[in-house]
Amino acid sequence: MAADNLLEGDVVIVGGGVAGLELATTLGRRARRGGGVGKVLLVDADSAHVWKPMLHTIAAGTRDLAQHQTPYLAQARDAGFTYVPGGLAGLDRERQEITVAPLEGPSGQVLLPARRVRYRALVLAIGSQANDFGVPGAQAHCLRIDSRRDADAFARTIRERMLQCLSDGSDLPLAIIGGGATGVELAAELVKLRDIAASYGSEALRSRISLTLVESGERLLAAFPEDVGNATREKLEALGIHVMTGQRAVAIERDGIRLKDGGHVRATLKVWAAGVKAPAVLNGLDDLETNPASQLIVGRTLQTTRDARIFAMGDCSSLALNGHKPLPPTAQVAHQQATHLAKHLPAYLARGQAIPPFSYHDFGALVSLADYDAFGALGRTGVLKGLTLRGRLARYSHELLYRGHQARLHGPVKGTLLWCIDALNAKVRAPARMD
Ligand SMILES: Cc1cc2nc3c(=O)[nH]c(=O)nc-3n(C[C@H](O)[C@H](O)[C@H](O)COP(=O)(O)OP(=O)(O)OC[C@H]3O[C@@H](n4cnc5c(N)ncnc54)[C@H](O)[C@@H]3O)c2cc1C
Repeated sequence: MAADNLLEGDVVIVGGGVAGLELATTLGRRARRGGGVGKVLLVDADSAHVWKPMLHTIAAGTRDLAQHQTPYLAQARDAGFTYVPGGLAGLDRERQEITVAPLEGPSGQVLLPARRVRYRALVLAIGSQANDFGVPGAQAHCLRIDSRRDADAFARTIRERMLQCLSDGSDLPLAIIGGGATGVELAAELVKLRDIAASYGSEALRSRISLTLVESGERLLAAFPEDVGNATREKLEALGIHVMTGQRAVAIERDGIRLKDGGHVRATLKVWAAGVKAPAVLNGLDDLETNPASQLIVGRTLQTTRDARIFAMGDCSSLALNGHKPLPPTAQVAHQQATHLAKHLPAYLARGQAIPPFSYHDFGALVSLADYDAFGALGRTGVLKGLTLRGRLARYSHELLYRGHQARLHGPVKGTLLWCIDALNAKVRAPARMD
């Protein structure tokens, strides 16, 4: 690093999530082979990557974070890119530089000062978080599962509360706000945790832990076909979850949730899992165009509308194709966009060749209710388009999404070995964290 804390890269990717880490890995490997990409830098506020669609399992403790995270430093070494730790703090489009915030240790001590990073092409892929729409009390009283750290903190809290509940005989009412895929999957996973804990001799937990799912829309899983939403509701209710639809949370209080109709849901632990918005740092970021959810507006080439050297992909971007509504914030979209840029950025950088328009192939959406069930609605692509899947096949398809991502990051051999290790661990390790 130069004395004035300036780093330089040909492609600078900010955000090493589903989209960003796949892109950094593919371009890094290509750069190492002399593939005309130049130097690839990945900036991330966190030190390790986790496949975000599994955060609800990490939060419930039914998956062990340590076994599923990929440290950026290790991936950078293996794939041939440079990792820059720290969060995006600013952008200077004229100088083609971003500012990376100082990196702080756990007690607030500055480990690394602010740095500037110069780019030839910048790719923003900093994902999204739940959107509490400013509901009073949501920030203060709700847990979240937006990131690796949130999910790990949630897992610790729920284990402590379960222990407390066992020792002092208190009850533990839990409530989740948001009946989309995140809320529904988390609810089922928490039932699984309760069942596992009960099987370890803590039978009292079955009656002491209760779960309520609050959704403002008229049904669950609005992004899925209606029959999937209805079948999911039936399954969750059969698992003992109290499902409330058409109920808007208007305030979160210490002891529960205040509803628009004046009702109150008692809950010691509340989780906000509704809505999607991009990180606030994108608002007014050197005048790039954003929508009300802070997502960067991009055109079909994934370039931002006001700067052709700046690309955005995944949840932090908004792309409307052919007058349709914007693509949903899913791992499927993030992965396809990363693949598109991985294919076309090298020629763009080497020869200034235009990026061709991105086409989205909708393979459908899947939702997994822990070990109890899974549903899938196949999309508009493929021979089975429009079909609804249920049970093992849907669960297996859900698992394959993760395994495909692992294979892209680590290669087919290491990816398969990791799958085998997970299968062995499932046989020999406790099914939930009890530490
Ligand atoms: C519980 C849950 C279940 C889900 N299930 C599914 C599913 O079944 N199928 C599906 O398709 N999708 C699912 N999703 C959605 C999916 O996870 C996201 O659409 C996908 O992860 C988006 O990828 P991304 O690369 O845009 O962002 P992410 O994967 O979220 O990555 C963003 C990265 O940016 C980093 N970052 C954030 N802010 C900054 C900053 N200021 N500076 C630097 N770095 C920053 C973060 O640390 C992170 O590494 C689920 C999401 C959740 C929460």
